[in-house]
Amino acid sequence: MYLGISRKSVLVTAASKGIGRAIAEEFVSEGAKVAICSRNKEHLLKTSDEIKNKFGVEVLWCVCDLSKRKDIENTINAVNNEFNGIDILVNNCGGPPRGNFLDFEEEDWQSAIDQVFLSAVTATKLVVPNMMEKEWGRIINITSISVKQPVDSLILSNAVRTGLVGLAKSLSNELGKYNITVNNVAPGYTLTNRLYELAVSRAKEMNTSHEEVLSEIAKGIPMNRLAAPEEIAATVVFLASMKASYITGCTIPVDGGYIKGL
Ligand code: NAD
Repeated sequence: MYLGISRKSVLVTAASKGIGRAIAEEFVSEGAKVAICSRNKEHLLKTSDEIKNKFGVEVLWCVCDLSKRKDIENTINAVNNEFNGIDILVNNCGGPPRGNFLDFEEEDWQSAIDQVFLSAVTATKLVVPNMMEKEWGRIINITSISVKQPVDSLILSNAVRTGLVGLAKSLSNELGKYNITVNNVAPGYTLTNRLYELAVSRAKEMNTSHEEVLSEIAKGIPMNRLAAPEEIAATVVFLASMKASYITGCTIPVDGGYIKGL
């Protein structure tokens, strides 16, 4: 399928590892100009080297802590200067810590809001004026199955991520006339560092192994397995493509059938 994004410029945030990195790679393989950011310079250097070895293409990388407004501004400015604007913004972020309601204080809530919600608000606000001028744009937020069905012991994710669903739907109403689409992708259980760490933490509590925890999770998924990050990335790149020109305001689960609702 011809996706028509080979000359588009893309920023994928939180993309040195996991789902963000897989998304960046998928855009690179489609010939787009890709920028990535995350907090850690060494991880970014390693990732950009590996992408260069795999695809023969340089990605632009910027050190950016998504909980800091100034870092986001600097990143968007750097990408704008290098690519002459951002056509496709993928708002990914690190996941908030695991825990139940009484485990968290106000500062934990604030930090989850900064990282998960305000980072997307800030980045989106900085890219939208240029998209409006060009009358073309794609904004895709990476959320979680937790926006459709709360996940046990992930109260921060369950509560804070749903804000992005309202944001994307409202923005899609405002920006449709500028040919800008806004959507969310909601990954299910995906084999990345984040899931590994969650499994190790749950295994300790249950006095079992993380392999056992992951295997139990897989048994609860109709597809009977966890997702590969590339399977999330494929949906994101499709939504960013010319072929998805009439899809906006949606939250699309990529969860192997995990969500139980209709
Ligand atoms: P991951 O831990 O493998 O990768 C997270 C990336 O975010 C890394 O590149 C890390 O450097 C970066 N990052 C973390 N905090 C950051 C910050 N403050 N500023 C900038 N970069 C930061 O995670 P993942 O599994 O790829 O998950 C990506 C997102 O998708 C997370 O929000 C996660 O909660 C969500 N999600 C993951 C799963 C899953 O099963 N893996 C399921 C549903 C939702």
